[in-house]
Amino acid sequence: MAGNAIPDIPLNDGNTIPQLGFGVYQVEPKDTVAAVRRALEVGYRHIDTAQMYGNEAEVGEAVRTSGLDRSEVFITSKLNNGFHRPEDARRAFESTLSALRSDYVDLFLIHWPLPTRYDGDFVATWRALEGFQRDGRARSVGVSNFQVAHLERLAAEAETVPAVNQIEVHPYFGNEEVRAYGHKHGIQTEAWSPIAQGRVLGDPTIVDIAEQSGRTQAQVVLRWHIQRGDIVFPKSNTPERIEENFRIFDFELDDTAMERITSLDQGDAGRQGPNPDTFDYLPD
Ligand code: NAD
Repeated sequence: MAGNAIPDIPLNDGNTIPQLGFGVYQVEPKDTVAAVRRALEVGYRHIDTAQMYGNEAEVGEAVRTSGLDRSEVFITSKLNNGFHRPEDARRAFESTLSALRSDYVDLFLIHWPLPTRYDGDFVATWRALEGFQRDGRARSVGVSNFQVAHLERLAAEAETVPAVNQIEVHPYFGNEEVRAYGHKHGIQTEAWSPIAQGRVLGDPTIVDIAEQSGRTQAQVVLRWHIQRGDIVFPKSNTPERIEENFRIFDFELDDTAMERITSLDQGDAGRQGPNPDTFDYLPD
């Protein structure tokens, strides 16, 4: 699309990922085919799902019936928290492929490190994911919600450096320490809840910058992420917003606007989601 080309970000394993995608957390299975289809029509070529979201099959269906070739769409999924034991991870990974009705996934992540579960052994889980990449069924593998200490442990004990770390990042929670570790070690940051599920919209600084740039607040915040080099996949069920969130490559924020948004960081108090050091949720 003229003026709105989505950059491909190189990963440390030689693959690339579109910097903008479409997230489907909290998209009901019954709404998922329509939402993903709309996103693909608008031009998104990267979908972020997870076993936990319960809509992998619908994501697969939307891609399969889109008229696009499977190879044109980058699909990420994530291992659910109940399946960290390697044999469970292998079974769960196969269930992802069969739900998607694809013989591979572009990116597969450990959804949460769960350091207080499974004797804190996310390294064994990570080794299972390394196997999926070796046998070609996961083109890339990575982690999500890993803190610096968790990444350091993988660096010390595992063969492969994760291609990405998908973490909470938005103007109220910059998550700078984890981002900086990734930057230094070739781990690409994916910013989840990039607009803090809507909470940063209405902030006077964001309102002001949106007015100055003639863009919507959501576009301004998403553009801030893009200029920081992170990968984003905003979620919306609304066709107009799906399109609005896509139109972020035909304008630029100047340094002052970037700094003003960055300075909204509230540290840990700004978190929208749980702290990965203590999060221990296991599905029923
Ligand atoms: P988000 O920051 O993308 O916000 C989504 C919400 O913001 C929508 O439900 C809607 O209410 C609102 N919204 C979206 N576009 C808007 C617009 N243009 N104008 C006004 N309001 C708008 O939040 P999210 O869905 O939590 O995060 C995005 C994706 O990140 C998820 O869908 C999922 O793929 C991923 N994610 C991953 C994790 C993880 O643990 N790895 C956790 C949360 C989310």
